[in-house]
Amino acid sequence: MNRQEVRRLLAAHGLRPRKGLGQNFLVDETALQRIAETAEIAPHETVVEIGPGLGALTEHLLARAEHVIAIELDANMVAILRERFGAQPHFHLVEGDVLEQNIPALVQHLTGQPRYKVTANLPYYITSAAIRHLLESQPTPDLIVLLVQREVAERIVAQPGAMSLLAVSVQVYGTPSLVARVPAGAFYPPPKVESAILKIVPHARPHVRPEEAEQFFRLVRAGFHQKRKQLRNTLSAGLHLPKEETDRLLQAAGIQPSQRAETLSIDDWRRLFDVWRAHQE
Ligand code: SAM
Repeated sequence: MNRQEVRRLLAAHGLRPRKGLGQNFLVDETALQRIAETAEIAPHETVVEIGPGLGALTEHLLARAEHVIAIELDANMVAILRERFGAQPHFHLVEGDVLEQNIPALVQHLTGQPRYKVTANLPYYITSAAIRHLLESQPTPDLIVLLVQREVAERIVAQPGAMSLLAVSVQVYGTPSLVARVPAGAFYPPPKVESAILKIVPHARPHVRPEEAEQFFRLVRAGFHQKRKQLRNTLSAGLHLPKEETDRLLQAAGIQPSQRAETLSIDDWRRLFDVWRAHQE
């Protein structure tokens, strides 16, 4: 869909883009193609699209996948999507908040099989929550391709030296890569920031098991609480441990107590978690 088509479709339904729902519609065919290509959809596969809006990306997905499950919160968009694609038997429309959906259960119910990929031009205000929701689903998607703010994509793909709580939260579950930048002019209306296509390949075996996640992230959150401070200080404050004990734990995990959280790799966090847990027993 191009800019004129989007404007015409909105006007025909008496609608305007809703800022509060993050409605910046993608009107650049190259970017739409690139998202669909990055998802590497085989004809027997199921794709879940979050926030399909007017259906610009949905068209591309319907041409490639065996099933497309579109989850949209805005009832006005739902009506338009139904009008546009409702006659296609492999199009499944779900009205509601993606964060409240059990996506694996939806996929199983609508397609009779468990595997799926996810694509989305995400409303920016739910980026982190949506990614966490996807990565903590069981089973996780085979692949996730998202359009997000460029700055957020860069933070997610960061390496030790520039890690953040967000980077750790994603990289524990999968390998992220930044596929391409997308300029603000590719959207109607244009957002204030640049965007990027982010691909996440979930690990077959995540570094953290579901039953460990709460404690693991308690540790990581404590480490990043004041990220300019040394781990010796952030961890002893956040975990209520004497400094000498924190030093011993860090050293046992092969980490210098003077290091900052942003310098740790996922393997470092995993080792530290194991040492801390053993110490608690
Ligand atoms: N996919 C379309 C495109 O690329 O042109 C629209 C993208 S727009 C950035 C985000 C879409 O997500 C909007 O259609 C909005 O109504 C929808 N949305 C916002 N919050 C949502 C939520 N919590 N769950 C599902 N959809 C949501």
